[in-house]
Amino acid sequence: MKKNNNKHWYKETLRKNKIGFLIFNILLITVVFLIFTIILTVVVEERFFNDVQTQIKRIDQEIDSNSFNKYVQSLEIEDPRITVVLYYSDPKETSFDQLLSPDILGYIKIGNLDDLYVTDIEKISEEDSEKYDKVEIGKHNYMTFVTKKWYKTVDKETEKDIVVSYVKIYMNIDGEVASKKELNVGLIMCTLLLLILGALTGYLIMKKSIKPLEVFVEKQVAFVSDASHELRTPIAIVQSKIENILANPEQSVYDVSEDLAISLTELARLNKLTADLLALARSDQERVVYNLEKVNLNILISEIIDPFFEIAEFENRVLIYQAEDVDVTIDKDKVRELMIIILDNALKYTNEGDEIVITLRNGLFDAIIEIADTGIGISEETKEKIFERFYREDKARSRQTGGNGLGLSIAKTIVTDMRGKISVDHNSPKGTKFIISFPKTR
Ligand code: ATP
Ligand code: MG
Repeated sequence: MKKNNNKHWYKETLRKNKIGFLIFNILLITVVFLIFTIILTVVVEERFFNDVQTQIKRIDQEIDSNSFNKYVQSLEIEDPRITVVLYYSDPKETSFDQLLSPDILGYIKIGNLDDLYVTDIEKISEEDSEKYDKVEIGKHNYMTFVTKKWYKTVDKETEKDIVVSYVKIYMNIDGEVASKKELNVGLIMCTLLLLILGALTGYLIMKKSIKPLEVFVEKQVAFVSDASHELRTPIAIVQSKIENILANPEQSVYDVSEDLAISLTELARLNKLTADLLALARSDQERVVYNLEKVNLNILISEIIDPFFEIAEFENRVLIYQAEDVDVTIDKDKVRELMIIILDNALKYTNEGDEIVITLRNGLFDAIIEIADTGIGISEETKEKIFERFYREDKARSRQTGGNGLGLSIAKTIVTDMRGKISVDHNSPKGTKFIISFPKTR
């Protein structure tokens, strides 16, 4: 259980970050949309309000222009949403106090609003004057406006002289209120939808962007465990061999030469392994310095493979090199290292009599190196994984051939660091083919 926990320590950290990110995402969307909603509501409200006020103002002006008419009722209002109430006082009361705040005797209503709601003449006073108000009357919404007037006229019904002292305009704004309500509902729906959508896409994006990180950490964890395992094996062998020697101190060096030889081989393996690990670690930390220079790749490769002709002959393999001249900007030592890794494999994974053909071609944009052998070949599955660290097709067999499974991953880092490409394919009729390319221009 503990081991499992240790292995997945990073998953817990990533999970916590995911949740944090998600909450942050939702909060951000909420805040942004809230601000947007508030602005929209205010703007819309302002517009509705302004529209209504302009209409009321127009009625007010109409009333003013009607003040020369003999009869007060001659005022015509076409808009069914509007009701005008004219509050009148006695024209004989002309004292200064009466002018300022006249005693209202009655009202004359022009419009649809029920009398029930306009009878309260007591409430009309100077204080309400020139003010807009929103009121609810019998389940309907009205905008009201009171304005002070002073015009003499006659009530058509009673033929009495009157003074119109206040005018109150009622405008039904049910339509506006309903639209605003609809808008609010729409906005809430939008907010919810956006929130769900935002959270979902946020989650998906995050999951996708974190995936490479997860893969990387997983690989790193596997790498460390593989590395320690690989290091332990040669150490254990050397230890047991030395213990063996010490257990029989009377033996001569000749007697224990086999143990010593095995120990030496294992130490050599350990040496190579640590060097390879170090190289990979350096490249991971981007601490590798490349000394780039323009070279004729044909001349360089000829130099590198020169000693391999003898080795190949000694191991009964046929090595062939065919090339075109091509200049590329590369690090000579790194290319040497790369070619040795690939050629070492080509010799290791071929049988007696097999052919290894190295071709250098001057492509349109790249210099292309192909190393094709007629050896044991690779499976389709291996093709996918061959450049992974510690990957070996057959671990037991590779142990005999002395491999750690790090060669090709080092080769890949070298190539990609120099902006080149490396791939592997089946060779025809049999064997394996590695294709490396370096861009001709940087
Ligand atoms: P080392 O770290 O010493 O190079 P290795 O040779 O096992 O060890 P790589 O060079 O990375 O490791 O190669 C990985 C594996 O790919 C090999 O174990 C082998 O199975 C397969 N392989 C590589 N080159 C060839 C080849 N030319 N033909 C067939 N199989 C190959
Ligand atoms: Mg190798």
